[in-house]
Amino acid sequence: MNMKRLSWLGLVFLFLACSEPSPEKKEMSAKPEKESSPLPKMISTQDSALKTFSMNGFDFQVFQDSPGHVNLDIYKGLLTPEERLAAVAGDSLLQSLNVLLVRGQGKLLLIDAGWGTGTAVKGNTPALLRAQGILPEAIDEVLLTHMHGDHVTGLLDSAGKAAYPKAVLRVAKPELDFWLSEAAAKRALSNKELAERVAKAYEGRIQTFAFGDTLLPGLVVTDAVGHTPGHTAFFFPGSPRALLVAGDFLHAAALQFAYPDEYPSYDMDPVQAVITRKFILNRAVNDSLLVMGAHIPFPGVGTVERVNANSYRFNPLP
Ligand SMILES: [Zn+2]
Repeated sequence: MNMKRLSWLGLVFLFLACSEPSPEKKEMSAKPEKESSPLPKMISTQDSALKTFSMNGFDFQVFQDSPGHVNLDIYKGLLTPEERLAAVAGDSLLQSLNVLLVRGQGKLLLIDAGWGTGTAVKGNTPALLRAQGILPEAIDEVLLTHMHGDHVTGLLDSAGKAAYPKAVLRVAKPELDFWLSEAAAKRALSNKELAERVAKAYEGRIQTFAFGDTLLPGLVVTDAVGHTPGHTAFFFPGSPRALLVAGDFLHAAALQFAYPDEYPSYDMDPVQAVITRKFILNRAVNDSLLVMGAHIPFPGVGTVERVNANSYRFNPLP
């Protein structure tokens, strides 16, 4: 099953690589100097929780929905607790919850919805949208990496209604199916109940996708399962850089880039999550991808460098 998933993910990337029409791209990817391909410029704004960049015909705005802090106590893997502590010594243990607004192909999309305003944790996403004059009705689609609370609670307003009243909600079929199933009740009842409220609020406006689907020209869904049963990454192909919006493929940047075998208690299938994490890190290096992580310190967008066979370093976009 794991190998099947892995080879499937490989096939998607292989397909994307093979379907690249430009001969220069092939040539470029064979050259080591591709590493020095120009990076998009990350632009700061007046609001410290909002940064923007543009690439491949899309404009991206990263919102810091909420700040956070790595809790090493919930991590397991190959290291002892002492080794884990030593591994992050001197590093910032800040993390973040990053939400992405995408403008392109005549559409306004959100990737994940953050915490929103209806819970004890207050997310900044609604205020950041409002501050830019973007009404909730203007969001055409909300795409979900997965359905954990920090990514979907913001789909509901404080009255429990759809916070984005005109948006189509798009989510991987295995993800939605799982959270609406009896298995989810046994595994995480409150998360299942949240998923049911979301499904009800967006009834008639939910579209599921399969891994490999093209959602828009220039936006392809890829399999990144492990963290949850339908965890999804969104791939924006392009030359010389492509962007992979990889959701919760890792959580503790200070630990898991260098030690990708380490996993938090909320990786639902830790074995698969580790396989997916390593696959994405390896691919990010080999294809010089720009990667965004939902929990990498804000804005969580950058490139990945290989340190050795099983260890990586994240270089945030300057
Ligand atoms: Zn998350």
